[in-house]
Amino acid sequence: MQIQAAVLHAPQSALALENLTLEAPRGDEIRVRLVATGVCHTDIAMLSRPFPVPQPIVLGHEGAGIVESVGRAVRKVKPGDRVLMSYNFCGACPSCQGHATSYCHDFASTNFVGLRQDGSAALSLGQTPVRHNFFGQSSFATHCLCTEKNVIPVPDDVSDAAFELMGPLGCGIQTGAGAVINVLRPQLGQSLVVFGAGAVGLAGLMAARAIGVGLLIAVDKVPARLALARELGATHTIDVSQVADVAAEIRRLTGHGADFSLDTTGLPAVTRQALDALGPLGMCGFVGGAAVGAELAVDVRDMMLQGKSLRGIVEGDANADVFIPTLIRMHQQGRLPLEKLVRVYPFEAINDAIADAKSGVTVKPILRFPHASTA
Ligand SMILES: [Zn+2]
Ligand SMILES: [Zn+2]
Repeated sequence: MQIQAAVLHAPQSALALENLTLEAPRGDEIRVRLVATGVCHTDIAMLSRPFPVPQPIVLGHEGAGIVESVGRAVRKVKPGDRVLMSYNFCGACPSCQGHATSYCHDFASTNFVGLRQDGSAALSLGQTPVRHNFFGQSSFATHCLCTEKNVIPVPDDVSDAAFELMGPLGCGIQTGAGAVINVLRPQLGQSLVVFGAGAVGLAGLMAARAIGVGLLIAVDKVPARLALARELGATHTIDVSQVADVAAEIRRLTGHGADFSLDTTGLPAVTRQALDALGPLGMCGFVGGAAVGAELAVDVRDMMLQGKSLRGIVEGDANADVFIPTLIRMHQQGRLPLEKLVRVYPFEAINDAIADAKSGVTVKPILRFPHASTA
């Protein structure tokens, strides 16, 4: 069938809206008509540096849509179902069998190569194959293919208006909220510091507030984001442009150092601050995609004597089948007010949405597809 998608033809270039051909779903595949999709910083990272596989490719991995057609082997969803899509995994390696699918041994090949596992491309522009299957979806398109592994049905009691905002549950929101709920696991009344008040950091903050964290500190350089952090439950904010020693300020605010910190910036210098801000037995989680080969220097003696730990986290350690329904319930209870983070753009304005996310004007862009209102 003919679809429209935003195609990346070369690194650093703007995305081009093109008419392409998408094959019918194979036995285990599901065709989804997109209603809306989030824009994640991983998409933007893929635009701004040489992508590890050849272009052209369709990016996008926070899709929300309606199942249109399914292969013969599909049982999990049927045409007409509203679904979210999350990351992809192999389903067979030791991590996947141990229910740690975000640490799939084949995470890179299942999420970033942009082809089916057999090496074929279902998408083409004229005679040219176009990479798709980015995070098992490539949601910057009117239609995409996914499989049962990364499709999550949405309950009927979610309104269409809320559903349109839920694409980011599949990556950015899951990453931040999962880091706090699944990995750091603060107890009622403990303290947590979030570095970076973007969508991932704010999701971590909302999750921490839902848990009942006592002292909740947000650190950023953009005053508007710090104001939003306070609105979402931060008890304190630190503007890095105004404070010389951030770790010392956090130790002052907490009395003995924070119990937990979460670095969402992908900058090793900030991860170091997030470690230095911890008190005894504190735990630092970090989720940002640092540059390839980036190294982090730690104060080894301080880490040992204080019993500190440092943990890298992918996709919030979340099993999306279990965690995304939890996040949907949190949203229904008012504990995850996505609407305060997002700005909705028409799909055609995708390059503007990306520019606004890069500049920090928009925390989380949502692209809405033209036929969404008739869904
Ligand atoms: Zn695997
Ligand atoms: Zn993402």
